[in-house]
Amino acid sequence: MRAAIPFVSQENPEKERVWLETLSKYLPDEAILPLDKLSEGERQLADVAIVANPDPQALKQLPNLVWVHSVWAGVERLVNDLSEQSFSIVRLVDPQLQEAMAEAVQAWSLYLHRDMFEYAKLQRQATWQPLPYVPASARTIGVLGLGELGRASAERLLATGFNVIGWSRNEKIIDQVTTYTGDEGLETVLKSSDIVVCLLPLTKDTRGLLGFEALAMMQPGACIINFARGDVIDEEALQYALNTGQLKHAVLDVFAIEPLPKSHPFWTHPNITVLPHISAQTNIDSACQIVAQNIRNYRLLNLLPDVVDTKRGY
Ligand code: NAP
Repeated sequence: MRAAIPFVSQENPEKERVWLETLSKYLPDEAILPLDKLSEGERQLADVAIVANPDPQALKQLPNLVWVHSVWAGVERLVNDLSEQSFSIVRLVDPQLQEAMAEAVQAWSLYLHRDMFEYAKLQRQATWQPLPYVPASARTIGVLGLGELGRASAERLLATGFNVIGWSRNEKIIDQVTTYTGDEGLETVLKSSDIVVCLLPLTKDTRGLLGFEALAMMQPGACIINFARGDVIDEEALQYALNTGQLKHAVLDVFAIEPLPKSHPFWTHPNITVLPHISAQTNIDSACQIVAQNIRNYRLLNLLPDVVDTKRGY
Protein backbone atom coordinates (compact mmCIF):
# COMPACT_ATOMS: atom_id res chain seq x y z
CA MET A 1 0.00 0.00 0.00
CA ARG A 2 1.16 3.52 -0.84
CA ALA A 3 2.06 5.92 1.93
CA ALA A 4 -0.47 8.69 2.48
CA ILE A 5 0.60 12.13 1.24
CA PRO A 6 0.47 14.83 3.92
CA PHE A 7 -0.77 18.27 2.88
CA VAL A 8 1.00 20.78 5.12
CA SER A 9 -0.25 24.33 5.08
CA GLN A 10 -1.14 27.36 7.12
CA GLU A 11 -4.13 28.14 4.91
CA ASN A 12 -7.53 28.87 6.40
CA PRO A 13 -9.77 25.78 6.67
CA GLU A 14 -11.90 26.71 3.63
CA LYS A 15 -8.87 27.17 1.36
CA GLU A 16 -7.29 24.00 2.73
CA ARG A 17 -10.48 22.12 1.88
CA VAL A 18 -10.34 23.41 -1.72
CA TRP A 19 -6.69 22.37 -2.04
CA LEU A 20 -7.39 18.89 -0.70
CA GLU A 21 -10.45 18.40 -2.92
CA THR A 22 -8.65 19.57 -6.04
CA LEU A 23 -5.53 17.51 -5.33
CA SER A 24 -7.68 14.43 -4.73
CA LYS A 25 -9.54 15.08 -8.00
CA TYR A 26 -6.27 14.94 -9.97
CA LEU A 27 -4.69 12.17 -7.84
CA PRO A 28 -7.65 9.83 -7.25
CA ASP A 29 -5.39 6.89 -6.33
CA GLU A 30 -3.62 8.73 -3.51
CA ALA A 31 -4.72 9.45 0.05
CA ILE A 32 -3.93 13.13 0.57
CA LEU A 33 -4.56 14.25 4.15
CA PRO A 34 -3.88 17.27 6.35
CA LEU A 35 -0.85 16.62 8.53
CA ASP A 36 -2.92 16.49 11.73
CA LYS A 37 -5.05 13.66 10.28
CA LEU A 38 -2.04 11.37 9.78
CA SER A 39 -1.30 8.73 12.40
CA GLU A 40 2.21 8.48 13.81
CA GLY A 41 2.79 5.43 11.58
CA GLU A 42 1.64 7.33 8.48
CA ARG A 43 3.96 10.23 9.35
CA GLN A 44 6.87 7.80 9.52
CA LEU A 45 5.98 6.31 6.14
CA ALA A 46 5.40 9.54 4.22
CA ASP A 47 8.02 9.99 1.47
CA VAL A 48 6.45 12.98 -0.27
CA ALA A 49 4.47 15.93 1.08
CA ILE A 50 2.59 18.72 -0.63
CA VAL A 51 3.08 22.06 1.07
CA ALA A 52 1.30 25.40 0.82
CA ASN A 53 3.24 28.03 2.73
CA PRO A 54 3.78 25.59 5.61
CA ASP A 55 5.31 26.19 8.98
CA PRO A 56 8.70 24.63 8.09
CA GLN A 57 8.90 23.22 11.62
CA ALA A 58 5.79 21.09 10.94
CA LEU A 59 7.77 19.16 8.32
CA LYS A 60 10.07 17.89 11.05
CA GLN A 61 7.22 15.56 12.02
CA LEU A 62 7.85 13.69 8.74
CA PRO A 63 11.30 12.13 9.24
CA ASN A 64 11.43 10.02 6.08
CA LEU A 65 10.51 12.56 3.42
CA VAL A 66 12.33 12.22 0.10
CA TRP A 67 10.88 15.45 -1.30
CA VAL A 68 8.25 18.11 -0.76
CA HIS A 69 6.27 19.79 -3.51
CA SER A 70 5.55 23.44 -2.75
CA VAL A 71 2.54 24.96 -4.47
CA TRP A 72 4.27 28.35 -4.29
CA ALA A 73 7.03 29.57 -6.63
CA GLY A 74 9.06 31.28 -3.88
CA VAL A 75 10.53 28.83 -1.36
CA GLU A 76 12.97 30.96 0.64
CA ARG A 77 11.37 30.13 4.00
CA LEU A 78 11.60 26.41 3.36
CA VAL A 79 15.20 26.74 2.20
CA ASN A 80 16.25 28.91 5.16
CA ASP A 81 14.36 27.22 7.97
CA LEU A 82 15.15 23.69 6.85
CA SER A 83 18.78 24.15 5.85
CA GLU A 84 19.66 20.88 7.59
CA GLN A 85 16.93 18.90 5.89
CA SER A 86 17.73 15.80 3.91
CA PHE A 87 14.76 16.00 1.54
CA SER A 88 14.54 17.83 -1.80
CA ILE A 89 12.33 20.84 -2.38
CA VAL A 90 10.34 21.20 -5.58
CA ARG A 91 8.69 24.54 -6.24
CA LEU A 92 5.73 25.35 -8.45
CA VAL A 93 6.55 26.08 -12.08
CA ASP A 94 3.24 26.86 -13.74
CA PRO A 95 2.61 28.53 -17.12
CA GLN A 96 -0.52 30.09 -15.56
CA LEU A 97 1.68 31.80 -12.97
CA GLN A 98 4.00 33.05 -15.70
CA GLU A 99 1.00 34.40 -17.60
CA ALA A 100 -0.37 36.16 -14.51
CA MET A 101 3.02 37.67 -13.65
CA ALA A 102 3.70 38.79 -17.22
CA GLU A 103 0.27 40.45 -17.26
CA ALA A 104 0.91 42.18 -13.92
CA VAL A 105 4.33 43.42 -15.03
CA GLN A 106 2.81 44.71 -18.27
CA ALA A 107 -0.10 46.40 -16.47
CA TRP A 108 1.99 48.18 -13.84
CA SER A 109 4.72 49.11 -16.30
CA LEU A 110 2.01 50.82 -18.39
CA TYR A 111 0.73 52.49 -15.21
CA LEU A 112 4.17 54.02 -14.70
CA HIS A 113 4.88 54.62 -18.38
CA ARG A 114 1.58 56.49 -18.98
CA ASP A 115 1.92 58.52 -15.74
CA MET A 116 -1.33 57.16 -14.31
CA PHE A 117 -0.21 57.86 -10.75
CA GLU A 118 0.57 61.51 -11.73
CA TYR A 119 -2.85 61.94 -13.36
CA ALA A 120 -4.56 60.49 -10.26
CA LYS A 121 -2.77 63.13 -8.14
CA LEU A 122 -3.69 65.88 -10.61
CA GLN A 123 -7.35 64.82 -10.56
CA ARG A 124 -7.42 65.04 -6.77
CA GLN A 125 -6.22 68.64 -7.15
CA ALA A 126 -8.76 69.32 -9.97
CA THR A 127 -5.78 70.23 -12.15
CA TRP A 128 -6.06 69.94 -15.94
CA GLN A 129 -2.46 69.40 -16.99
CA PRO A 130 -1.34 67.23 -19.88
CA LEU A 131 2.09 65.65 -19.34
CA PRO A 132 4.48 65.02 -22.26
CA TYR A 133 3.91 61.75 -24.13
CA VAL A 134 6.88 59.40 -24.38
CA PRO A 135 6.54 56.42 -26.76
CA ALA A 136 7.04 52.96 -25.24
CA SER A 137 9.97 52.39 -27.62
CA ALA A 138 11.77 55.30 -25.92
CA ARG A 139 11.50 53.67 -22.51
CA THR A 140 13.92 51.03 -21.28
CA ILE A 141 12.66 48.50 -18.77
CA GLY A 142 15.24 46.47 -16.87
CA VAL A 143 14.11 43.09 -15.58
CA LEU A 144 16.16 41.74 -12.66
CA GLY A 145 15.83 37.95 -12.70
CA LEU A 146 15.22 36.15 -15.97
CA GLY A 147 13.84 32.88 -14.65
CA GLU A 148 10.36 31.46 -15.20
CA LEU A 149 8.61 34.71 -14.31
CA GLY A 150 11.25 37.22 -15.41
CA ARG A 151 11.63 35.79 -18.90
CA ALA A 152 7.86 35.67 -19.51
CA SER A 153 7.60 39.26 -18.26
CA ALA A 154 10.50 40.47 -20.40
CA GLU A 155 8.91 38.92 -23.48
CA ARG A 156 5.56 40.53 -22.67
CA LEU A 157 7.19 43.95 -22.19
CA LEU A 158 8.95 43.54 -25.51
CA ALA A 159 5.65 42.72 -27.21
CA THR A 160 4.17 45.86 -25.60
CA GLY A 161 6.76 47.94 -27.44
CA PHE A 162 9.28 48.70 -24.68
CA ASN A 163 13.02 48.42 -25.01
CA VAL A 164 13.87 45.57 -22.62
CA ILE A 165 17.11 44.62 -20.91
CA GLY A 166 17.64 42.02 -18.18
CA TRP A 167 19.97 40.68 -15.52
CA SER A 168 20.49 37.17 -14.22
CA ARG A 169 23.19 35.06 -12.61
CA ASN A 170 24.02 33.01 -15.69
CA GLU A 171 24.04 34.32 -19.23
CA LYS A 172 20.72 34.24 -21.05
CA ILE A 173 19.76 34.50 -24.68
CA ILE A 174 16.35 36.11 -25.20
CA ASP A 175 15.50 37.42 -28.64
CA GLN A 176 15.72 41.24 -28.76
CA VAL A 177 16.50 41.51 -25.05
CA THR A 178 20.03 42.60 -24.11
CA THR A 179 21.02 40.59 -21.07
CA TYR A 180 23.70 41.11 -18.45
CA THR A 181 25.28 39.25 -15.55
CA GLY A 182 27.53 40.12 -12.61
CA ASP A 183 27.96 43.32 -10.62
CA GLU A 184 28.87 45.36 -13.66
CA GLY A 185 25.85 44.03 -15.50
CA LEU A 186 23.60 45.04 -12.61
CA GLU A 187 25.08 48.52 -12.65
CA THR A 188 24.45 48.81 -16.40
CA VAL A 189 20.85 47.70 -16.04
CA LEU A 190 20.18 50.06 -13.12
CA LYS A 191 21.80 53.00 -14.92
CA SER A 192 20.01 52.36 -18.22
CA SER A 193 16.45 51.66 -17.07
CA ASP A 194 13.49 54.03 -16.82
CA ILE A 195 11.66 51.27 -14.94
CA VAL A 196 13.32 48.43 -13.02
CA VAL A 197 11.23 45.31 -12.43
CA CYS A 198 12.45 43.00 -9.65
CA LEU A 199 11.76 39.29 -10.15
CA LEU A 200 14.68 37.86 -8.19
CA PRO A 201 14.24 35.14 -5.58
CA LEU A 202 15.14 36.07 -2.00
CA THR A 203 18.49 34.46 -1.22
CA LYS A 204 21.57 35.35 0.81
CA ASP A 205 22.91 37.06 -2.33
CA THR A 206 19.79 39.08 -3.15
CA ARG A 207 18.71 40.17 0.35
CA GLY A 208 19.13 43.96 0.46
CA LEU A 209 20.63 43.92 -3.06
CA LEU A 210 18.75 47.10 -3.93
CA GLY A 211 20.05 49.31 -1.13
CA PHE A 212 21.30 52.91 -0.99
CA GLU A 213 24.19 52.30 -3.39
CA ALA A 214 22.19 50.43 -6.02
CA LEU A 215 19.21 52.78 -5.94
CA ALA A 216 21.54 55.78 -6.28
CA MET A 217 22.78 54.27 -9.56
CA MET A 218 19.31 54.47 -11.08
CA GLN A 219 18.41 57.28 -13.42
CA PRO A 220 16.98 60.31 -11.62
CA GLY A 221 13.20 60.05 -11.85
CA ALA A 222 13.19 56.33 -12.66
CA CYS A 223 10.55 53.98 -11.24
CA ILE A 224 10.73 50.57 -9.62
CA ILE A 225 8.37 47.59 -9.45
CA ASN A 226 8.97 44.87 -6.86
CA PHE A 227 6.93 41.73 -7.46
CA ALA A 228 9.52 39.32 -6.01
CA ARG A 229 10.18 39.53 -2.26
CA GLY A 230 10.19 42.59 -0.01
CA ASP A 231 13.63 42.01 1.47
CA VAL A 232 15.39 42.28 -1.89
CA ILE A 233 14.91 46.06 -1.54
CA ASP A 234 16.14 47.92 1.54
CA GLU A 235 12.98 49.76 2.67
CA GLU A 236 14.88 52.64 4.23
CA ALA A 237 16.95 53.16 1.10
CA LEU A 238 13.82 53.06 -1.03
CA GLN A 239 12.09 55.70 1.08
CA TYR A 240 15.18 57.87 0.90
CA ALA A 241 15.34 57.54 -2.89
CA LEU A 242 11.64 58.41 -3.22
CA ASN A 243 11.78 61.29 -0.73
CA THR A 244 14.76 62.90 -2.44
CA GLY A 245 13.23 62.53 -5.91
CA GLN A 246 15.97 60.13 -7.03
CA LEU A 247 13.12 57.74 -7.80
CA LYS A 248 9.69 58.91 -8.98
CA HIS A 249 7.42 56.04 -8.01
CA ALA A 250 7.50 52.48 -6.65
CA VAL A 251 4.90 49.78 -7.18
CA LEU A 252 5.31 47.23 -4.39
CA ASP A 253 3.48 43.94 -4.14
CA VAL A 254 5.78 42.38 -1.55
CA PHE A 255 7.14 43.60 1.77
CA ALA A 256 9.55 42.63 4.52
CA ILE A 257 6.52 42.05 6.77
CA GLU A 258 3.23 40.83 5.28
CA PRO A 259 0.49 41.83 5.66
CA LEU A 260 2.02 45.32 5.63
CA PRO A 261 1.40 46.68 9.16
CA LYS A 262 -1.29 49.40 9.31
CA SER A 263 1.21 51.88 10.76
CA HIS A 264 3.77 51.34 7.97
CA PRO A 265 4.73 54.59 6.19
CA PHE A 266 4.45 52.96 2.74
CA TRP A 267 0.64 52.96 3.00
CA THR A 268 0.45 56.74 2.87
CA HIS A 269 3.57 57.56 0.87
CA PRO A 270 2.47 59.66 -2.12
CA ASN A 271 4.95 57.94 -4.43
CA ILE A 272 4.30 54.33 -3.49
CA THR A 273 1.56 52.06 -4.78
CA VAL A 274 0.90 49.25 -2.28
CA LEU A 275 -0.50 45.93 -3.53
CA PRO A 276 -1.35 42.99 -1.23
CA HIS A 277 0.92 40.30 -2.78
CA ILE A 278 -1.37 39.66 -5.73
CA SER A 279 0.76 40.07 -8.84
CA ALA A 280 0.77 36.32 -9.55
CA GLN A 281 -1.47 34.30 -7.29
CA THR A 282 -1.32 30.53 -7.44
CA ASN A 283 -4.14 29.11 -9.57
CA ILE A 284 -5.28 26.15 -7.47
CA ASP A 285 -6.62 24.12 -10.36
CA SER A 286 -3.57 24.41 -12.62
CA ALA A 287 -1.18 24.05 -9.66
CA CYS A 288 -2.89 20.79 -8.62
CA GLN A 289 -2.66 19.40 -12.14
CA ILE A 290 1.08 20.12 -12.20
CA VAL A 291 1.63 18.66 -8.72
CA ALA A 292 -0.39 15.57 -9.72
CA GLN A 293 1.70 14.99 -12.84
CA ASN A 294 4.93 15.36 -10.85
CA ILE A 295 3.74 12.93 -8.19
CA ARG A 296 2.63 10.40 -10.83
CA ASN A 297 6.08 10.62 -12.46
CA TYR A 298 7.64 9.95 -9.07
CA ARG A 299 5.37 7.03 -8.21
CA LEU A 300 5.51 5.35 -11.60
CA LEU A 301 8.95 6.27 -12.96
CA ASN A 302 10.81 7.31 -9.81
CA LEU A 303 11.43 10.66 -11.51
CA LEU A 304 11.70 13.92 -9.58
CA PRO A 305 11.09 17.31 -11.22
CA ASP A 306 13.88 19.95 -11.04
CA VAL A 307 14.67 20.52 -7.38
CA VAL A 308 15.68 23.72 -5.61
CA ASP A 309 19.43 24.16 -5.18
CA THR A 310 19.44 24.82 -1.44
CA LYS A 311 23.04 26.12 -1.47
CA ARG A 312 22.18 28.71 -4.12
CA GLY A 313 18.86 29.37 -2.38
CA TYR A 314 16.51 29.06 -5.38
P1 NAP B 1 13.40 31.42 -10.98
O1 NAP B 1 12.85 30.72 -12.17
O2 NAP B 1 14.18 30.66 -9.99
O3 NAP B 1 14.28 32.64 -11.53
C1 NAP B 1 15.09 33.40 -10.72
C2 NAP B 1 15.94 34.32 -11.58
O4 NAP B 1 16.72 35.16 -10.73
C3 NAP B 1 16.91 33.54 -12.48
O5 NAP B 1 17.04 34.17 -13.71
C4 NAP B 1 18.23 33.66 -11.70
O6 NAP B 1 19.38 33.61 -12.52
C5 NAP B 1 18.09 35.04 -11.11
N1 NAP B 1 18.95 35.19 -9.94
C6 NAP B 1 18.89 34.52 -8.76
N2 NAP B 1 19.88 34.92 -7.94
C7 NAP B 1 20.57 35.85 -8.63
C8 NAP B 1 21.71 36.63 -8.32
N3 NAP B 1 22.35 36.53 -7.15
N4 NAP B 1 22.18 37.48 -9.27
C9 NAP B 1 21.57 37.58 -10.47
N5 NAP B 1 20.48 36.87 -10.82
C10 NAP B 1 20.00 36.02 -9.90
O7 NAP B 1 12.23 32.15 -10.17
P2 NAP B 1 10.80 32.62 -10.72
O8 NAP B 1 9.86 31.48 -10.80
O9 NAP B 1 11.01 33.47 -11.93
O10 NAP B 1 10.30 33.51 -9.48
C11 NAP B 1 11.02 34.64 -9.04
C12 NAP B 1 10.49 35.07 -7.69
O11 NAP B 1 9.21 35.69 -7.84
C13 NAP B 1 10.20 33.93 -6.71
O12 NAP B 1 11.38 33.53 -6.05
C14 NAP B 1 9.21 34.55 -5.77
O13 NAP B 1 9.89 35.13 -4.67
C15 NAP B 1 8.56 35.66 -6.59
N6 NAP B 1 7.12 35.45 -6.80
C16 NAP B 1 6.26 36.44 -6.46
C17 NAP B 1 4.91 36.27 -6.67
C18 NAP B 1 3.93 37.37 -6.34
O14 NAP B 1 2.72 37.17 -6.43
N7 NAP B 1 4.38 38.53 -5.95
C19 NAP B 1 4.41 35.09 -7.24
C20 NAP B 1 5.33 34.09 -7.58
C21 NAP B 1 6.68 34.28 -7.36
P3 NAP B 1 19.76 32.27 -13.36
O15 NAP B 1 18.66 32.13 -14.39
O16 NAP B 1 21.03 32.62 -13.99
O17 NAP B 1 19.78 31.15 -12.37
